[in-house]
Amino acid sequence: MPFTENSSKDDTGRSVRRAEIAKTWSFDAAHHLPSHAGKCRNPHGHTYTVEAVVEGEVKQPRGESDDGMVVDFGTLSAIWKEHLEPRLDHQDLNESIGADGCWPTTAENIAHWIALTFRSRGAPVSRLSVWETPSGRATVYYGTDDV
Ligand SMILES: [Zn+2]
Repeated sequence: MPFTENSSKDDTGRSVRRAEIAKTWSFDAAHHLPSHAGKCRNPHGHTYTVEAVVEGEVKQPRGESDDGMVVDFGTLSAIWKEHLEPRLDHQDLNESIGADGCWPTTAENIAHWIALTFRSRGAPVSRLSVWETPSGRATVYYGTDDV
């Protein structure tokens, strides 16, 4: 039987598989850090990359659309399209999300803000990374079972 090396049994003897799934997006935005001692205090822009990770149990076959998945990629994409992209892409982040608790608009705080938006919309994101540049990222961690 395939997958047995990645399976365990639960209390009822049912085979449980776990997996981590990830999806990425990018967006362009302006921001600045008013208190920063260096050049980041001046308005400037980035092409940000976001990676959302969900780690959890692979759903057993039960005749549902998300059989065999941890979470449907489409669920993540729908939240991104409806609730995140309009607030992030081609926006001044200091205005668009800075007033919504994401302050200052560092990569760390942007990562928390995006992760909390996913989680409040029903996607149990366990880890979320934001690349501000190709070589610099911030990653925030959340539990896997506390949603
Ligand atoms: Zn910056």
